[in-house]
Amino acid sequence: MSKSDFNLTIQNKSTESKIVASLERIAQAFRVLLWQESKEHSLSPIQVQILIFLRFHSEEKRKVSYLADEFNMTKATISDTVKTLEQKQLITKETEQHDTRSYIIGLTTKGKEIADQTASFSREIYKPIESLSPDDKENLLLSMLNIIRHLNKTGIITIQRMCMTCNYYEYSEKSQKHFCRLLNQNLKTTDLRIDCPEHSMKQD
Ligand code: SF4
Repeated sequence: MSKSDFNLTIQNKSTESKIVASLERIAQAFRVLLWQESKEHSLSPIQVQILIFLRFHSEEKRKVSYLADEFNMTKATISDTVKTLEQKQLITKETEQHDTRSYIIGLTTKGKEIADQTASFSREIYKPIESLSPDDKENLLLSMLNIIRHLNKTGIITIQRMCMTCNYYEYSEKSQKHFCRLLNQNLKTTDLRIDCPEHSMKQD
């Protein structure tokens, strides 16, 4: 018999498998919502994801090679997507002074407008989370961060900018406290970041 989490005989007896199946449904909801938003603007889901990423991230992350790692795609695929976005007049390219083969990608005014409109595509997923109790939110956040940390460690997802992979992060098993050496302060569970602008990758 297959040991798959999606084998209902196994799934219905296993809390872990039910959680895995639930995450798969949520991933499907993300795909559906993103698709709906993309259609409205005659863009593909990855084009919308790139516009949103460009809107909220700093210059050093707005390059083809970084985007390729971020979205687990090849540089060629990202270059094609960037080219299409440029043809649609949604992005600009600024050549770097020290390396003329590399460029920083920016948004045009129209690109910014679309990024702002589409960036709320996840609001229906936010709503039920908003109504959870503070303790449930905290537990859910920590559980999610631990799952993502595992997926990053095993190489399934590449770039992460979360506290647990950061050079400045310390955790005390004894006091169960999280600490950021950059901010020089303890972090509550709800202060832990999933995408921190100051993140510095820890070398394991
Ligand atoms: S710099 Fe950012 S990611 Fe790193 S520990 Fe501090 S808050 Fe977390």
